[in-house]
Amino acid sequence: MRRVAVLGSTGSIGASALAVLRRHPERFRVTALTAGSNQELLSRQIEEFRPSFAGLAAPGAASGGTAARGASCLIEAATRPDVDVVLNAVVGFAGLDATVAALRAGKRVALANKESLVAGGALVIEAARQGGGELVPVDSEHSAVLQCLGGRGPAARLTLTASGGPFRTWPIERIRDATVAEALQHPTWRMGHKITVDSATLVNKAL
Ligand code: NDP
Repeated sequence: MRRVAVLGSTGSIGASALAVLRRHPERFRVTALTAGSNQELLSRQIEEFRPSFAGLAAPGAASGGTAARGASCLIEAATRPDVDVVLNAVVGFAGLDATVAALRAGKRVALANKESLVAGGALVIEAARQGGGELVPVDSEHSAVLQCLGGRGPAARLTLTASGGPFRTWPIERIRDATVAEALQHPTWRMGHKITVDSATLVNKAL
């Protein structure tokens, strides 16, 4: 039985991960959940999964519910003794501290929050070395690169392809005037807003 902390449980990746975990109760137990500010969805998740810890990162007065408050809840969830695997699905730089803390605590970190590596790659690798934690990429490009490299010796070159989503067929001059609503019309994937825009602008490939 693997005990899992889902950081960013109310987001696109977090909710997808919980949908998978829900289907395999004999293999996984959700022991910690954290959200940013979506208290209502977090409450429903607490009701369903009954974790031993839940936290809401947004500052504010204690909610009166079962969730801890404040940014430090991410680190608490990521380092608890009843957690084996930490899925970090927080968006942005806010995920860095929890990635580092989890690796220092020797956890297996399933990392969707690639911003952790962009903002502090050296810190993250050093934390894994110090604490014996393991980094497992769950972002698609990172996971694909890992699988390409696995056991095949050094690669001469890696090529990442990109479609540009809704703008694939647009002339470059027109893209300058694109709206957010147009950027959100990805023809293939239903993802969170931030990553859908990053995908349309190709910033996702840079990350
Ligand atoms: P979402 O915006 O859908 O979800 C982000 C999650 O992080 C929510 O649970 C949100 O809480 C929480 N959050 C936001 N700000 C903070 C904060 N300051 N402190 C703590 N928690 C916070 O993002 P995605 O699920 O789309 O993306 C998550 C990560 O996964 C990103 O790094 C992204 O690049 C990566 N990724 C996403 C993919 C996708 O298909 N969506 C694919 C591959 C990688 P709340 O909503 O309660 O405020």
